Amino acid sequence: MRAAVLHAPGDLRVEEVAEPEGEVLVRVTAASACGTDRKMLAHGHPILERYPCRFGHETAGVRQDTGERVLVGDSVACGGCGPCLRGRTAICRAPTWVLGGFAERIGAPAAALHPVPDGLEDAGAAMAEPLAAAVHAVARAGPSREAAVLGGGTIGLMLARLLVLEGRDVTVCDRHRERRAQAAAFGARAVDRLGEHELVLEAVGRPEAWRAAVRAVAPGGTVVFVGGCPRGTDVALPSEPLHYAEVDLRGAFHHTPAEIDRALELLAAGDVAWRALAGARIGLDGLAAALAGGERGGEARKPIVEPWR
Ligand SMILES: [Zn+2]
Ligand SMILES: [Zn+2]
Repeated sequence: MRAAVLHAPGDLRVEEVAEPEGEVLVRVTAASACGTDRKMLAHGHPILERYPCRFGHETAGVRQDTGERVLVGDSVACGGCGPCLRGRTAICRAPTWVLGGFAERIGAPAAALHPVPDGLEDAGAAMAEPLAAAVHAVARAGPSREAAVLGGGTIGLMLARLLVLEGRDVTVCDRHRERRAQAAAFGARAVDRLGEHELVLEAVGRPEAWRAAVRAVAPGGTVVFVGGCPRGTDVALPSEPLHYAEVDLRGAFHHTPAEIDRALELLAAGDVAWRALAGARIGLDGLAAALAGGERGGEARKPIVEPWR
């Protein structure tokens, strides 16, 4: 079968490979791409095993054993580490990663598979993976009437939409006019500069954005860091708001299986307009160019790989 294979940072090849191994074989119908895939291609990533390796972690397809349409979750928690034993499976210390959606087929543990609701297209189902991470981040945020999202990329827009659905007053901050227009279409106010906000969700993943989020939070408010900075990054934060204004800082990472199911429900119900976040439909051969071109600004959209193309 054909698969996109990373041979080294910057070296992506589409080639014939052996059939994947795994408990259940899934024929991939749609795999969306995101900033993590861009990072994996450009710089490598800690969860990639040794090269050559397959990647793609937002994957929808059809189980070859039962014919059922499924979302292939990108990890299975170990169940035995400290966080797992405390019910915090999103931060499992030893998950089994399920990567390789950019291929004609992927092998997955049955525990990673989620049924796709009828009526939800495969490309939309694939987006349940990043949307689940947004569901998780909003759950980490706690209640507040008013909220701001820093960064109008696809995750920032998903966060904004979830907060709007909860009836909150939501502001999205992004320097790109096109992304501000997308945020407005999702029901948020759009600005190019944050004011003061009770809750700030950072969805950029750069030290200066982490600092900007802390500077923008109101006394007694909460910041949730959703965007991961490059590995090894130390971020210097102002101490005064943390101490004198009792600002809460929280991280948000990944998701739980229940959050994936919730994301699938939201997408199937039309509550999150995934088509507004879908980019070009491409075959495996278009992936390298699509990932390389992803940082140019303009609208936030996710390329959709349809490996059968
Ligand atoms: Zn992703
Ligand atoms: Zn664990």
